[in-house]
Amino acid sequence: MSIAENIAKIRAQMNEAAIAAGREPKEILLCAATKMNDADAVRAAIAGGVDVCGENRVQELTQKLSQHAYDGAPVHFIGHLQTNKVKQVVGKVDLIQSVDSLRLLEAIQKEAQRQNIRQDILLEVNIGQEESKSGFHAEEILPLVKEFSKYPNICLRGLMAIPPISQNSGDNRKFFEKMCSLTVDITTKNVDNICVDILSMGMSDDFADAIACGSTMVRIGTAIFGQRHYA
Ligand SMILES: *Cc1c(COP(=O)(O)O)cnc(C)c1O
Repeated sequence: MSIAENIAKIRAQMNEAAIAAGREPKEILLCAATKMNDADAVRAAIAGGVDVCGENRVQELTQKLSQHAYDGAPVHFIGHLQTNKVKQVVGKVDLIQSVDSLRLLEAIQKEAQRQNIRQDILLEVNIGQEESKSGFHAEEILPLVKEFSKYPNICLRGLMAIPPISQNSGDNRKFFEKMCSLTVDITTKNVDNICVDILSMGMSDDFADAIACGSTMVRIGTAIFGQRHYA
């Protein structure tokens, strides 16, 4: 199947999951996880109707930006970002989804201030409390959000999570539900610099469950582009 056909199929499945959950299909955005796919594949995904492109690696982002691969769609950063590379990402992407430490948050604030811009971000939550993963623990989120006025050049738009790899379909629902209630908690707080309207969760294998639990953005790689070939 072509990239466009894959996207049409995913859209149909997204719509079905939304309607089954009593939600409006248009509330949920489709982000193409474009890592290891070249500029032409990215262009095909945009032509096929994805809402957003999400890039994982700074080097790929920089290269595809220079190739104008993302023209016609917003681009998000969704991978682990080292603090020494924030200059190559801040101001270059519409949203940094993967802010996974205080150190990174501070580095982004500093760089956004230097550029005199306001950078939109999501906080990444290590919702499965996995040692191998970065991200904030769920209980760190509320206290951090309450202090968000410390980051005047950052706008917090919501939360992102990559739950543990699951054995059985449905296994991750408990994590998705936890993410949703955490989002509700921070939405009801009246704090400067926050405008929470995004909950980014759900990938190729579990996006329907994520939508059932309140996701507003699914990030899909394999189901759009096929298997990635790691060298
Ligand atoms: C690769 C990636 C995805 C997409 O994963 P698939 O299982 O290929 O759909 C989503 N989110 C992040 C952060 C990724 O790195």
